[in-house]
Amino acid sequence: MTEHEHEAVQQPVQGQKPEHKEESAPVAGKRYKVIFERPGCIGAAACAAVAPQFWEIVSDGKADLTGAKRLQNNEIHELEIDEKDLAVMKDAAEACPVTVIHIEDKKTGKRII
Ligand code: SF4
Repeated sequence: MTEHEHEAVQQPVQGQKPEHKEESAPVAGKRYKVIFERPGCIGAAACAAVAPQFWEIVSDGKADLTGAKRLQNNEIHELEIDEKDLAVMKDAAEACPVTVIHIEDKKTGKRII
């Protein structure tokens, strides 16, 4: 009777999907690099309105890219993001009136915006 006990243990539950797993998305796992050219920022705050989880207007009136690496004396901010954040980051970049937010495909280096 105890021989079968181990067979019933921990079967993966079929039909139950983990929340953010996109089974059919061939590009899942792609990474992108956001490059923010801070000196050109005029503090219009469009980015912060669109994606407050990434953009914040700070004391000098310009935006900061939350969690980004600060390069070249804080003039360039760089942040790697996942596929899941690409759409909102693209919206923020497109909303910026002075186009100082850019996004590159991390693997190919191709600039998306
Ligand atoms: S939208 Fe552009 S100009 Fe406005 S705060 Fe953001 S980065 Fe700066």
